[in-house]
Amino acid sequence: MDRRQRLTIIACGLLLAFLVSRPVPAAEERGAFPSPALIERLQNSPSTGRARIAIIIDDLGNTWGNGVRAILLPGAVAYSILPFTQFSTRLADLAHSREKEVLLHMPMEPEGHQPESPGTLRRDMTREQFALTLNAGLTAVPHVIGINNHMGSLLTQQPQAMTWLMEELKRDGRLFFVDSRTSPSSVADRFARLHGLAHLPRNVFLDHDRNAESIEQRFDELIARAKRRGFALGIGHPHAETLAILERRLTDIDALGVELVPLSQAVHPTQNKMAAAGGSDGEDPISNSDVPIFARGQPSPQPAP
Ligand SMILES: [Zn+2]
Repeated sequence: MDRRQRLTIIACGLLLAFLVSRPVPAAEERGAFPSPALIERLQNSPSTGRARIAIIIDDLGNTWGNGVRAILLPGAVAYSILPFTQFSTRLADLAHSREKEVLLHMPMEPEGHQPESPGTLRRDMTREQFALTLNAGLTAVPHVIGINNHMGSLLTQQPQAMTWLMEELKRDGRLFFVDSRTSPSSVADRFARLHGLAHLPRNVFLDHDRNAESIEQRFDELIARAKRRGFALGIGHPHAETLAILERRLTDIDALGVELVPLSQAVHPTQNKMAAAGGSDGEDPISNSDVPIFARGQPSPQPAP
């Protein structure tokens, strides 16, 4: 073997050693969904030091015009979309194309005799029916990175149902859970935590009352809470009144002294610093928003089962 052959063998050996020693790219670097590790890293990334808010607009899917208007809101607003509605897929695609985060607004059984949305999770389901219904919802809305409950004032009080829900979400491995807190007795957030699932409770409903003055006050409350606790999560709906106020106030968010962060940055698994900062005490625990705003006249294709 001459010197050139020896050098070639040594070079190949070094190249092979380098390739073998390279770390395997983490899931998030391969373009997978935000993993707990990524969420943790984002959370620990240098911040501006300002208080943070996150905002979800939910109940999207039944109307196109207000859905589009909502998606055009400035900044990192997240959108939660009802399954089996006329515009579920198109609105999810539009939001995703504008680099907005998309959630599944999973219908869950309410208290009383309110009309239910197609694909509602109910407490009288078997485990198999429950899993099939959840998966049908997840399949019906593309680009989903998390879910929050639509209605659900009854189901979110049920330990068995919440155990099944969190087990299914945990099994999926990509999804986080936001408790809309449509009942003051919801155990959903607690069960998410028990199952080690990334989670966050809603702190303020922006448009529990659709009166413009009230929405302004709730928005101020969201900001004040964030400044007090470091973080606050608000949920609103695609009402014209809500959208008009958010269009104006989110345009000059810097003047409010807070930062609007993507929902995925606000959520993380067990030691949920932002959730702890936002807290689940003291928010309005109510449930007017349990009243579906578009429930009547919906198409009613029941997904399997
Ligand atoms: Zn809803």
